[in-house]
Amino acid sequence: MARAYDDLVRRLLRISALRESSALLQWDQETHMPPGGTEARALQLSGLSAFAHELFTAPELGRALAQAEKEETDEKHRALLREVRFAHERATRVPTELVESMSRATSRALSSWTHARAKSDFAAFRPILEEIVQLQRQYAAAIDPDVPPYEVLFKDYEPWIGLDETRRNLAQLRDGLKPLIRRAADAPRPKDVFEGRWPKAQQMAFNVRVLEALGYDFQRGRLDVSAHPFSTGNVHDTRITTRYDESHPLGALLGVIHEFGHSLYTQGLPKEDFGTPLGDARDMAVHESQSRLWENHVGRSRGFWEHWLKPMQDAFPGQLAGATPEDAWRAANIVEPSFIRTEADELTYHMHIALRFEVEEALIAGKANVAEVPALWNERMQAYLGITPPDDAHGCLQDIHWSHGSFGYFPTYSLGSMLSAQLFAAFEKQHGPAAPAIRSGDCAPLRGWLRENVHRHGKRYKTNDLIERATGAPLTPKPFLAYANAKYGELWA
Ligand code: ZN
Repeated sequence: MARAYDDLVRRLLRISALRESSALLQWDQETHMPPGGTEARALQLSGLSAFAHELFTAPELGRALAQAEKEETDEKHRALLREVRFAHERATRVPTELVESMSRATSRALSSWTHARAKSDFAAFRPILEEIVQLQRQYAAAIDPDVPPYEVLFKDYEPWIGLDETRRNLAQLRDGLKPLIRRAADAPRPKDVFEGRWPKAQQMAFNVRVLEALGYDFQRGRLDVSAHPFSTGNVHDTRITTRYDESHPLGALLGVIHEFGHSLYTQGLPKEDFGTPLGDARDMAVHESQSRLWENHVGRSRGFWEHWLKPMQDAFPGQLAGATPEDAWRAANIVEPSFIRTEADELTYHMHIALRFEVEEALIAGKANVAEVPALWNERMQAYLGITPPDDAHGCLQDIHWSHGSFGYFPTYSLGSMLSAQLFAAFEKQHGPAAPAIRSGDCAPLRGWLRENVHRHGKRYKTNDLIERATGAPLTPKPFLAYANAKYGELWA
């Protein structure tokens, strides 16, 4: 008789095939699908997710899991069983009809959000958002009616990090950043040497060059355009997207470097475990640590601009005329309150997250209505950053997450930043300063270290165990605050 473990893995591979297919259809929906395709796509995605849900919650899978738990002693196999048990317990509590309704609603919400954002029309998005919030509350109640719903949802993104621990870390981060953000207001504003004319086609070509130099494997990936940049895929095929602004190249360039960090992680997962949790990324905070490490610790570093300014001047004749690497580095690190999260500097960024964390937790807890979101948003924006968005496109309509039904996701961005600094500090402790290699365009040591300490482990270890193995300590905001104080101390000296 086949071992229960092998039977379980065989089932997981089928489910993974369905989920990967859904991810590819979602990628298509955000990049190439004609607008008329929405209804059909909603049906395809809800069908696939319902089918995957049925397979994952099937009694046969439950029996194979329970049997394997009795038989397996191998540590790696036990790690897989731990992950499957966690997800299976949750999934079996959610009715398939609810999974289908959630998938249908989010597919429709995507096109509704795209139109609402383009016209800055929150009222047009409001009904579907109300539906999604209701579905999320039902989903949380189905999984665990005794725990606050937001906490249940958060576990979808961070199964092994506590929400209380997250709250503490984020409060410490916010409090540590406030004095720096205040100082930024008094610091002389450097000239933004990137202001100019940046044709889209040339930006695309240049960003591809940067991706190649950083080590992105185009044999297993591609770069496209979407309304909201993202990366998706698996170890064999990892795709990234970006969006372009012809008056300023940094949003797209740093965005591409950010998504590169995500896909380098995916491309570095263990191929032999493809399709099982051991071959999957360790959740959102670790994923985001990879993107932020490349975006901020590399892309916004002095060494990066010492290397890339000249090629950029050559690729865009007439732009950046007379600028020095020092000018570019300063311009890439301007700290000032702004409306759009994805374009925020690395300090005020965390105030954008604090705001979303508060608004979405209130919505899910039933302490605020969807209709109140624009007012609540603008009020928090004023409190945290002292500015009020001119319209909802620059306010509560800017992010795609809620239309995806992703509530509980935002806090993981700040956790990811913290972790990126923690990992980068651990790398430098072992290898010495990274700047000389970055300046010479050689990112191989950093890539190798991340692969060895993070990528190749998939979900083998629980999050804090993975972090401790790599850095010697559990997740903490201290290295990020030390990094920010040192860097901006130098910039504003
Ligand atoms: Zn990201």
